[in-house]
Amino acid sequence: MSTGGLVDTFGRTATDLRVSLTDRCNLRCSYCMPAEGLDWLPSEETLTDEEVVRLVRIAVEHLGIREVRFTGGEPLVRRGLVDIVRRTAALTPRPETSLTTNALGLTRTAQALAEAGLDRVNVSLDTIRREDFLQITRRDRLADVVAGLEAAQRAGLGPVKVNAVLLRGINDDQAPELLGWCIDRGYELRFIEQMPLDAQHVWRRDTMVTADEIFASLEAAFVLKPVDEPRGSAPAELFLVDGGPATVGVIASVTRPFCGDCDRVRLTADGQVRNCLFAREESDLRTALRAGAGDEEIADRWRAAMTTKRPGHGIDDVSFLQPSRPMSAIGG
Ligand code: SAM
Repeated sequence: MSTGGLVDTFGRTATDLRVSLTDRCNLRCSYCMPAEGLDWLPSEETLTDEEVVRLVRIAVEHLGIREVRFTGGEPLVRRGLVDIVRRTAALTPRPETSLTTNALGLTRTAQALAEAGLDRVNVSLDTIRREDFLQITRRDRLADVVAGLEAAQRAGLGPVKVNAVLLRGINDDQAPELLGWCIDRGYELRFIEQMPLDAQHVWRRDTMVTADEIFASLEAAFVLKPVDEPRGSAPAELFLVDGGPATVGVIASVTRPFCGDCDRVRLTADGQVRNCLFAREESDLRTALRAGAGDEEIADRWRAAMTTKRPGHGIDDVSFLQPSRPMSAIGG
């Protein structure tokens, strides 16, 4: 039996757990999923609420996880979400809990999630133009996302963060507009570089919108100044906008990777540990769980899963191979 946290062979310690609650989604963002959706995980392979909570408890009680972020697919489509959040927030030591969501339906659940102990939400929104939203997500649901954001803020799930991906020829000229809109409403905006994690495998390095382009576009409209606080393991580089207090973040996973400071580990909806978004292998906890393994054995398997974590995602290596599972199945 070993003890201790989730340390890899390069000395990084994972304290931030991303839990995918489902691979299903009610949007069809073109850079993530094909219009017809994907072959969803069979329900018998998906962890039950009980199993999710048990693995999260082991991660918190035995493995030093301090932050738990629920994601997917779309976590709001998981029926047991509020209960999973409640049981997670009741763990000792209490982890910080958050949700990455498209906000569809958040008007109905924001208050219950806050009462269950959810601390914050990150809402994905790439454009505030209805036609472009429809083109990107293939659904005419912009108004519902905007209402979901407002509900999150009313429920105290803040600071409410907005994640945006810029796509060449669609919304790549909209960075300042989106930033102004978020600042007016008190949302913290972060731009994420598009990564090679689409189910269709059409991502191309030479057409993605880079962090440098995002800065250039923002600096035509705002004065950006790096914030004073050290970045630590945060993926976003943060900037004060026009002297602050508003900030904007850029997550340059491709052009300025931050793997050396990574403190994340992922659990898929079917109970596989992934030590990196771009990992090519997974470690199966579900089989052990269902075979009756005790907490210590599961914790040992989880620690062992970290030993194969590579120093970096290697997107720029000639040998780079896109992971076989897309973002929606891994948990973004
Ligand atoms: N459905 C939830 C949502 O919309 O936030 C959670 C899952 S979604 C996969 C999480 C985040 O991943 C979203 O902000 C989405 O824009 C982002 N995403 C999806 N595919 C991506 C890609 N290829 N590159 C960068 N970000 C991506």
